[in-house]
Amino acid sequence: MQNPTHLLLVSSPGLGHLIPVIELGKRFALHHNFKVTILAVTSQTSRVETQILNSVLTSSLCHIIDIPSPDLTALVAENDAVFTRLCVTMREAKPAIRSILSEITPRPSALIVDVFSTEAIQIARELKIMNYVFVASHAWMLALVLYSPVLDEVVEGQYVDQKEPLKIPGCNPVRPEDVFDPMLDRNDRQYKEYLAIANGILQSDGVLVNTWEELQRKDLEALNEGGLLSKELDMKIPVHGVGPIVRQPELDTSSLTHSLMTWLDKQSSESVVYVSFGSGGTLSFEQMRELAWGLELSEQRFIWVVRAPSRRNYGCSVFHHVGNSQFDEMVKYLPEGFVSRIHKVGLLVPDWAQQVTILGHRSIGGFLSHCGWGSTLESVTNGVPLLAWPLYAEQRMNATLVAEELGVAVRPRVLPTKKVVRREEIAEMVREVIIENRVGERMKEVQRSGMKASSEGGSSYVSLTQLARTIGG
Ligand code: UDP
Repeated sequence: MQNPTHLLLVSSPGLGHLIPVIELGKRFALHHNFKVTILAVTSQTSRVETQILNSVLTSSLCHIIDIPSPDLTALVAENDAVFTRLCVTMREAKPAIRSILSEITPRPSALIVDVFSTEAIQIARELKIMNYVFVASHAWMLALVLYSPVLDEVVEGQYVDQKEPLKIPGCNPVRPEDVFDPMLDRNDRQYKEYLAIANGILQSDGVLVNTWEELQRKDLEALNEGGLLSKELDMKIPVHGVGPIVRQPELDTSSLTHSLMTWLDKQSSESVVYVSFGSGGTLSFEQMRELAWGLELSEQRFIWVVRAPSRRNYGCSVFHHVGNSQFDEMVKYLPEGFVSRIHKVGLLVPDWAQQVTILGHRSIGGFLSHCGWGSTLESVTNGVPLLAWPLYAEQRMNATLVAEELGVAVRPRVLPTKKVVRREEIAEMVREVIIENRVGERMKEVQRSGMKASSEGGSSYVSLTQLARTIGG
C-alpha cells in the first residue's frame, strides 16, 4: 500500500485560530486519508487549549507538535495590539517551523499556514514544498486584506475618517467604521504588520477560505482568475472556498455540559438565546449590566457565558488566561439580585461552555454573538439565527455581512464598540428573534446551502477534493 500523503498545518495562538486549523486537518485526514501534523504555536496558559489539543490526540486523526509561544518581552511593548503580538510570535516561531519542516518524516507534500504565519511560506518554497494559506474567515474579508496595500496608496488620512465606503473591485464596499482592527490607526505598528500579510498570501500556491461558493459567489469570482480584483492585483493564485469548516460536537461528560443539556431538554423548541462573545471577548462593566437587564426585560430564556468586564469599551484576551474565573467573581459585576431573579429562566456559565454542543440543541432559538467567523459558521450550520454584537478584529464586517447581506441576523442600531447598547433594544432584539422569528427562515436556507456545499459532490467538497489531488500528486 502507498504511504499516505503527509500534510503539515500551522496555527497561531488563540482558540479562534487553533480550532479551524484542527478542523481543516481532520477533513484531510478523514476524507482524503492524509497523514496530518499540526504545528500549534500555543499560549500554554489556557486550560481549554490543553483540552482541545488532548482531544485531537485521543481522536488519533492528527498528530500535534506543540510549539510554545516564544518570549516576546524584548520584542513588543506593553501597549502593542494583539494583532502585532500574533505576527511577532509567528515570526519568532519560524526557526522551530523550519527545523520541523526540513526534518520531519515522511517528507511533507504541502504546508498550510494560517494568516499570521505567512512568513513560513518562504521556508516551504526554499524546501520545494507546496504551500497554501488557510483564511479561517470569509471571502469578503480576504478581499479587503489583499486589496489593503492598494487602499494604502490611494486613500489619504485614516480609513475611519473617510466619508465614503472603501471600494474593493468586484466586492461590496466596506464602511469606514467596519474596517478590520489593524486598519483603525494607520500609524500603529499593527497596520504595517497587516499590510505585509497581503503580500505573504500572494506568495503562496493558493488560498483556502472558510466560505462556500453559494454564500459568497461574487467575492470568490472577484478573487479568482478573470475576476475584477484578481486582475487589478495581477493575482496568479487560486482561491478555494472550502467551508463551512466548523467544530463538531464531541462527547463531553463534564457535569457542566450535562446540567446545561438537562436544562435545555426541559425547554420548548427554539425558545432559548445563547449569549457568548467567543474565546476572549469581554464587555465594559456598564455594558455587561445593561445586557443583564436587557435579557431579563426580554422575558425569554437564556444561557449566558459570562466573563469579567474589561476596563475599556470592550476587550479581547487571546494571550490571557482562559478558564479559571470563578462564578462568585462573575456575580459581583451583575445587577443586584439578578442571579436570584433569573434563576428559573436563565443560566450563567463562567468563562467557557461547549458552544457547538449547545448550539446543536433543539431548544436554542438565537445566538447573541460577537460574530467571530467560527461562531458565526457554527450558528449557520445549526440553523440558529444571530443577534450580531461585533467587538474586535473583523467582527464588524462579519456583522454587516450576516445582518445586511445574508439576512440571517438582527443587530443593534449602535455599534457596540462605540456606544452602550441599551436594555430596551437588547430585549427588543431578543423578542424579534425568539418570538417573531424575524430571520429564522432565511437562516434555515443558508444552513441548507452550507450543508450541501460540504457534502459529497457539493462545491466545497469538490474544491477540497481537487486540492487534495493536487497535493497528493
Ligand atoms: N468557543 C466555545 N465556548 C466558548 C467560547 C468559544 O466552544 O465559551 C469556541 C467556539 O465554538 C468557536 C471558537 O471558540 O469555535 C471561537 O472562535 P470565533 O472565530 O467565533 O471567535 P474568536 O474567539 O476567534 O474571537
